[in-house]
Parts: sequence; structure tokens; C-alpha cells
Amino acid sequence: MAGSASTAPTGPATPVPPGATAPRLHRPLPPLPPGSWLGLLGGGQLGRMFCMAAQSMGYRVCVLDPGADSPAGSVADRHLRADYLDEGALREMADTCRATTTEFENVPARALEFLAAYGIVSPAAGSVAIAQDRMAEKAFVRGCGLDIAPYVDVRSADDLRAAPPGLFPAILKVTRLGYDAKGQASVASIGQALDAFAKFGRVPCVLEKRLSLELEISVVVARGFDGRSVAYPVAENVHRAGILAVSTVPARISQDLALRAVDATRRLADAMDYVGVLCVEFFVLADGSLRVNEMAPRPHNSGHYTIDACITSQFEQQARVLAGLPLGSTHQHQSAVMLNVLGDCWFDQPGDAQPSVAPREPDWTVVLGHPSAKLHLYGKREARRGRKMGHVTVLADAVDEAVRVAVQIERELGIGAPGEPIRP
Ligand code: ADP
Ligand code: MG
Repeated sequence: MAGSASTAPTGPATPVPPGATAPRLHRPLPPLPPGSWLGLLGGGQLGRMFCMAAQSMGYRVCVLDPGADSPAGSVADRHLRADYLDEGALREMADTCRATTTEFENVPARALEFLAAYGIVSPAAGSVAIAQDRMAEKAFVRGCGLDIAPYVDVRSADDLRAAPPGLFPAILKVTRLGYDAKGQASVASIGQALDAFAKFGRVPCVLEKRLSLELEISVVVARGFDGRSVAYPVAENVHRAGILAVSTVPARISQDLALRAVDATRRLADAMDYVGVLCVEFFVLADGSLRVNEMAPRPHNSGHYTIDACITSQFEQQARVLAGLPLGSTHQHQSAVMLNVLGDCWFDQPGDAQPSVAPREPDWTVVLGHPSAKLHLYGKREARRGRKMGHVTVLADAVDEAVRVAVQIERELGIGAPGEPIRP
């Protein structure tokens, strides 16, 4: 049986560290009735799954995204195809929607601030601003008394030259706009770090010690306007080439470790007076200690399993928070393994002597031939290597059984890298 979620409400009791948004009075949001318009900034797969969840409760969704056939835009009730800072489009959004959310952290803070002048915006611009800048994020997490990997801020080549030798081997990460390991370079020495810094165009970076990881885990919480929060079970994550590949839930970790991770996530959410869905990624070290890796001010890839395995999905929670509705149960009714399906599957298929030059649709019948596997594709027209095209969630009464079927599906689809299997 899957681990049950912690659902105890918490208030915004944590002292506010430097960098946090100022505490504000919680005013109860009059619930927006079904039929109302909800706004969404961003058009990717997270937005698509938000649209579907909101629409299934009777809401209409207006998406602002510049993309032509964006995954969210193509299922939204309305798609404003414009830049996030296009004032006409923002005005249109504000006129249509009394509440707006975002599906990715790189949306300009100015767009959120603009909308906040007219209606409800969750998460708030201040929370998004922390999560979209690695320097601000690390300072904030440390200010909350939580441990992170040793690092230094890098604004100039001199900052790199002054970096303590003990930080190497390290990872140089651009502070803004990085995702799925883009904007990151593994560096073994100051010389390599200087080269990588130049390649990144000398934009602000953090230089972070490469830790030896026992495990990676993540926690998704949803927190409402009243400061009450609910947490999902901890996910155990495997990354390949810096991109999430597999989430196994519940994580096969001690209860003590799970509680520490959930507590830390709640502490961060409370300190930001966060409203919405928040995910915190953690590293687990060999001694069982935790390091906060990063936060995502939105539903997270490692929470996709909640669609099929939990009473309320992370996307439905996002819609509930935005509409001012009560939060739903996070109870997980089946163990789950989520496999990301990247564009590579269109090029490397089992039985190929060598990779195909032209993309070919994978054979989905092999996935659907497993009755407990659920296929989710995001409607992206073009498959590219490393691009997230969809995911598969395998459900079972016991986590070991879900892992067994997931390993088989990985083999059948030709995904997975030798040496980095799903932990059996
Ligand atoms: P992204 O924004 O691309 O998710 P992350 O900082 O989370 O960037 O890095 C992606 C992955 O790279 C992590 O999940 C982890 O597997 C690996 N990684 C990142 N930083 C470190 C580190 N300091 N030590 C070891 N592995 C790391
Ligand atoms: Mg990450």
C-alpha cells in the first residue's frame, strides 16, 4: 500500500528571513464559481495539465503564451498568443480573468505585478522572483536555516578566481533561465570554470560543489490563501543527463527522512507566505542528511504521478487554490512509477542498429499493453532529443511491482541509460 500523505495544516508561523515577501493579512478569497475564467501564464505541458484539471471542474482557462501550437494553448478555452509583457494581452487577461497563475518560473515578474494590480495572482510575484534566481533562492533557503550545497555567487571572473579550491569538482549554473540542466557546466578546476563562464556570456552564475548523492527526492505542497497546506508523499527521483527520468512514489526512504523533507518544504512555503503549488527538490547524502537543491513555484514533473495515483492531482490543487476552493486530499491510493518520455524515443528505438535521422512515432501499444500503465502525451508536434514529449505512470498495489513493470516498459520503449537503472 502506498504511503499516506501528511495533511496537517500549518499556519504562517515561521519567522520571515531576509528576502522573503513581507507577511500580509490573509483575506479569505471569495470562491470563484465554476464557469469563471482562470488565467494562466505559460503554454507548456504543465499548463496543459492545469487546463485539463481546471476544465474538468467547469472552469474556463485563458492562456497567455507566445507559442503557435503550445501544449496548453491548444487545449485552453482561449489562447492569447503574445509576449508575456505585451500590455494589450495582459490587459485582456486582466479583463477576462479574476485570478491568474503561472506554469513556469521564468515568466517576467513585471507581468505578474501588472496582473496583481487588477486581480488575484498566485503564486505572488515575490515568490516567483525568489525561485527564478538561483542566487536569491540560495540566500533565501539558507536564511530559513536549511542546508544547501556549498557554493559561491559568481558575478565576475574574479569571483571565480577567488573560489575556494574545496568547491571543485563543481557545477557552474547560470542564475536565471536554466532548466533541465541547460545553463549548467561541470567544471573540475578554476580554468574550466572560467571557460564555462565565458561560454555563458559572463551572466551571473553560482558555482556549486558537486556532491556525492545517495538519492534525490522531492516534495510537492499546495498552500492556500488561508495559510493551510497539504503535502504529497515524497518522490524518489532519478535524473539522466540532468533531466528527470524516473519518479518512484512513495520514495523508499525512512519515515524520519520523509518527515524532515516535508517539514523543510513547509518551512519554505510558510516563509514565503506562498500561495499555490510548490515543489522542493532535495539531495540526500550518504549520512542521511538533506540539502535543498532548488524550488519550483508551480506543479513539478516529479508530481505528475498525482494525476493517476492520488485523490487530488497537483494540477487540480493549483486550480483549487486559484479559485479559492478547499484543498483536496493528497492521499495516494496506488504506488506509482512515472517515466518521462523524451524526444529521444522517436530516434532510438529497440532493434535499431543505429539512431534514425528522421523521427518515428514510438509504438504506444507496448505501453498500453500493460493494463496498469497510463500514457500522457503533451501534443508537441516536433520530437527533439531531450524534449519532454510525455510521460507514463505505472500503478500497482506495491511499489516493487510498479518498478518491475516500469523497467519492462523502459526496455520496450528503448529508454533508460545503461548504468542508471530504476533502483530495483
Ligand atoms: P535544473 O534547473 O536543470 O533542474 P538542477 O540544479 O536541479 O537544475 O540540476 C539538475 C540535476 O543535476 C539535479 O537534479 C542533480 O541530478 C544534478 N545536480 C545538480 N547540482 C548538483 C550538485 N551540486 N551535486 C550533484 N549533482 C547535482
Ligand atoms: Mg532541478
